[in-house]
Amino acid sequence: MPAFGPDDILVRIEATSICGTDLHIYNWDPWSQQRIKPPLIMGHEFAGEVVEAGRNVRGVKVGDYVSAETHIVCGHCYQCRTGNSHVCQEVKILGVDRDGAFAEYIAIPAVNAVKTDRSVPPEVAALQEPLGNAVHTVLAGPVAGERVAVFGCGPVGALAVAVAKAAGAAAVYAVDINDYRLGLARQMGADLILNPQRDDVVTILRDQGADRGGIDVFLEMSGSPQAVKQGLAALRNGGRASILGVYSRPVEIDWTNDIVFKGVHLQGITGRRMFETWYTTGALLASGALNVAPLITHRLALEDFATGFEAMRTGNTGKVVLFPQGIR
Ligand code: ZN
Repeated sequence: MPAFGPDDILVRIEATSICGTDLHIYNWDPWSQQRIKPPLIMGHEFAGEVVEAGRNVRGVKVGDYVSAETHIVCGHCYQCRTGNSHVCQEVKILGVDRDGAFAEYIAIPAVNAVKTDRSVPPEVAALQEPLGNAVHTVLAGPVAGERVAVFGCGPVGALAVAVAKAAGAAAVYAVDINDYRLGLARQMGADLILNPQRDDVVTILRDQGADRGGIDVFLEMSGSPQAVKQGLAALRNGGRASILGVYSRPVEIDWTNDIVFKGVHLQGITGRRMFETWYTTGALLASGALNVAPLITHRLALEDFATGFEAMRTGNTGKVVLFPQGIR
């Protein structure tokens, strides 16, 4: 049972989903080796019930049903004090820098809790965290009436497709080299799916936006250098490029032609705005405009975590959800 302080709550976890970050840790890749200090409980996407609350806790109480923001921020740096705590200088991440959610219970600062309506099943409530990444990326600029391309259709990319459709995009194009993932994107509402191994993605996207000289919005969620180049090449003058993907090494891009002379609005995206993105995400779910359930492809008991990770290694998964209290 994790220890908790006066400002913390203890949550009994009902569902916890595996993130790509967890797969990096499970694979013990170079990033994990330098960042993770074992022993550590992994996992950060979860939902459950508050079973204990520290004496200073306000706004959350025992019995509340919560998910949680996974970035624990300092509250006193420049960024935190100016409404930008998603880029806190002292951020600590659940399941990366401190014990996480692949467990029966987790202790978190009460301020990180996000109360959720009981009508939302725990596996969907847990998904609010990665869904928040998608919401933050998609809504970092105008979407309504825009032609939007999403490169990388893993779970967050597929969710971004759904969010863009819900937000009124004129068309959403999904790009991936994995046909299984393109199928997920199609299920989540993509108007056109493109596989760069078969399709001339840049030409097709430019044709789709021919009246404006290209697509309006490029959302990069793949971490592929080729996707960065293709997305920027397909973008119209004055378009928006929002980058959530992370890259294993520096990526060369044509700054002169694809950024400067195009007047591109280029932005890096990390985490979720705290807590605006959570309110928006919750509202989108409550409105019924988003149906994320098709994205949940695997439901496993917590002790069968290895089955989930092995499935994720194939790349042919949506979200893998683990249930510490028995599968729902
Ligand atoms: Zn801070």
